[in-house]
Amino acid sequence: MIAKVEPLTPARALRGPFDYLLAGALEGVGVGAMLVVPFGSRRLLGVVVEVAERSDLPPERLAEPLAALEADVPAELVRLGLWVAQEYVTTPARGLALVLPPGTGTGAGRRMAARRSLSASITEAGRRALQGGVRLGERQRAALESLREQPRRVSALARDTGCDHGGLRRLEKRGLVALEQALEESRRPVLRGVGAGAAVTGMTRAQEEALEEVVRRMDAREERDRRLLLRGVTGSGKTEVYLRAVAAALRRGRSAIVLVPEIALTPQTASRFVERFGDSVAVLHSRLSARERYDEWSRLRSGEARVCVGPRSAVFAPLTELGLIVVDEEHDGSYKQEGDPRYDARHVAERRAEACGAVLLAGSATPRPESVLRYERVELRERIDSRSKGSTAPLCNPPGGLPPVELVGMAGVSGPLHQRTRDALDEVRRRKEKAIVLLNRRGWSNYLSCAECGRVWECPNCDVTLVLHRAAGRMSCHHCGHAEPVPRSCPDCGSMSVSRRGLGTEQLGAELERLVAPLPVFRLDADTAPGGGIDRTLQRFDSAPAGVLVGTQMVAKGHDFPDVTLGVVLDADATLRFPDFRADERTFALVAQLAGRSGRGSRGGKVVVQALDPDARALRHAAEHDSEGFVAGELERRAALGYPPYGNLIRVVCSSGEERSRDDGEHRTVPWGGAQPERCSGEHRTVPWGGAQPERCSGEHRTVPSPGPETAAAEAVRRLIDAPGVAVLGPAPLFRLKGRHRAQLVVKAADRSAGIAAVRSAVESVSSSAEHRGASYAVDVDPQ
Ligand code: ADP
Ligand code: ZN
Ligand code: ZN
Repeated sequence: MIAKVEPLTPARALRGPFDYLLAGALEGVGVGAMLVVPFGSRRLLGVVVEVAERSDLPPERLAEPLAALEADVPAELVRLGLWVAQEYVTTPARGLALVLPPGTGTGAGRRMAARRSLSASITEAGRRALQGGVRLGERQRAALESLREQPRRVSALARDTGCDHGGLRRLEKRGLVALEQALEESRRPVLRGVGAGAAVTGMTRAQEEALEEVVRRMDAREERDRRLLLRGVTGSGKTEVYLRAVAAALRRGRSAIVLVPEIALTPQTASRFVERFGDSVAVLHSRLSARERYDEWSRLRSGEARVCVGPRSAVFAPLTELGLIVVDEEHDGSYKQEGDPRYDARHVAERRAEACGAVLLAGSATPRPESVLRYERVELRERIDSRSKGSTAPLCNPPGGLPPVELVGMAGVSGPLHQRTRDALDEVRRRKEKAIVLLNRRGWSNYLSCAECGRVWECPNCDVTLVLHRAAGRMSCHHCGHAEPVPRSCPDCGSMSVSRRGLGTEQLGAELERLVAPLPVFRLDADTAPGGGIDRTLQRFDSAPAGVLVGTQMVAKGHDFPDVTLGVVLDADATLRFPDFRADERTFALVAQLAGRSGRGSRGGKVVVQALDPDARALRHAAEHDSEGFVAGELERRAALGYPPYGNLIRVVCSSGEERSRDDGEHRTVPWGGAQPERCSGEHRTVPWGGAQPERCSGEHRTVPSPGPETAAAEAVRRLIDAPGVAVLGPAPLFRLKGRHRAQLVVKAADRSAGIAAVRSAVESVSSSAEHRGASYAVDVDPQ
């Protein structure tokens, strides 16, 4: 037999599969086996992607694999990994790395193996020997005695009885004990829950109906669409439906995957699955040690665990007989992977569920337009405890037990907080209640500028401003991590007056402390999060009788604090000021999700949303808890523009690390209103491209550096993308990031696979040409 082996190498150029001859002990290996193979003078680790009768190579050129690793992956996952490589325009090795045992990577890192230890058990002959008539040393007798009850690890036995490894081997030779390598128990990580988690006895009528829809799809015999969207307002009991759907899958002898956004932010959901299903659950999350991660993977692979709960990578869990994939909070951006391959776990889940006839259950209070359009739907319209709960009279209460939302305009308001917000926070202080305040910007202030000359402090590696972090005494770049001390004076003009512009969570926290004293203020953002800080902050807020939780979008995730009576969103339309077709969707979800955190308990609650333009469509719908209406408008707009889900977008970013001065005299000029570049000093003359007579500069334009290798490469890619129904926009310059100049193309394709294929062949051809050696390429299918 011939094994077709894909080598696991980070090298893009080395692409299999390569044929190897299977013989002897390795004759039986199948798809998914991991082999060590000779490759020229090297040895490589590879995965069997196909087994065939014959090879096109002459027999004398076929080598044999050197060894097979103990771990392997199901054939189904090998197919999934290769599909991801195709779909997201990357190498087979990078696609396969996603489905292999943790730590395998692209073969470069250190590998984990299951831990084994030698264990001894007594044989029948051994038992008889203890009754007499057989010559036994004192230690050997002690060892046999000790094994009478149960088998034991050899190391522990030697410690207790003094009968060492050699002594046991001699007993084994005489047939009195049996020795075998046994797998050691794996280490289970511990999960702590935060917030309310009362056991649920009955189901509401709406929950029953939703579950029935899931089960009907699970049991359907014929080929059919098994995707289902569970739209349910926050607190409507979606998690209970997931739990019962998982139980239904297990009862049918099938396994289940539950995808959740970052577990650190939502420990509650994961711990509910562990409570319900105990050891049949494996939890994968980012804070596991490498050993814990490997052990959880092995428990899934061996079938000991049949449910996997985890963030996006859990979609590759090595389960067989999959019956259900749940995608909780399906609108969450964390399902998209940022690095290569830039896969979207929701799209992969769809593919995997379809391939194995499993139900795909996506749930959210604010589902994506994509899912609303494409999936059949069930709804949970009411919060579980939906008494009328508004705490203030003038607003009428929305249906479903959700809190009333007030939009306030910030035009002409000085200071970060509107009077309505101050009043509401003051009420929380007086009544000793709880509030959550969201500001999606961390640090003390956005940027520093010189009051004299207008200098703005920027990152030396990225074309963005540095953010002041006062407690740390530094200014840092939120893109590359560059940090420098806070300046005392302006290096350009020497002025001592440096002003702070904009407000971040750090400063807001300090402001709130003054406002609500003596209530405590807890801050949650990427600065306070490292090292288990998230759990601790959430727990402290949960157990405090009263207080304010302030932070970035982290505070709007799925926590369930029953006694929050006020939610506040600051600068809610900041996200709308980004030129991105998903800006509305993101803004809507953020505000609606935070609104869902308030008023879950018996005291009711309300929400105040501050914005520059409180009339923005996304905000109006969010204030009315109107996901239906928002999505309808959004779909209309996207249909007109050919955006997803009515078309496919692929982004290609070409970059180069070349040193380049900002204005090397070779620049082009862009009229005001063009893309990012700086203002021109007016101190030069301009020469049109092609070199006609220089004209005096009017000063009314901005300058861009002349195109570098990244732009040339992007232009070359653009020229090569040539397929009907595929349009290319750009190249457009992006701001410099981590020292790299970038140029972007956006590809719009009516037909997904045609678009992907066109981009793949164009990028492969440009990236392998010597002319464009100076550039690198990142392809992002379905950019978020
Ligand atoms: P969601 O996931 O939709 O935000 P949860 O599943 O967190 O909602 O449910 C909100 C609260 O209601 C939880 O505390 C949960 O234990 C409780 N709950 C869910 N279903 C029921 C039920 N049928 N009866 C009573 N309480 C329930
Ligand atoms: Zn200055
Ligand atoms: Zn930077």
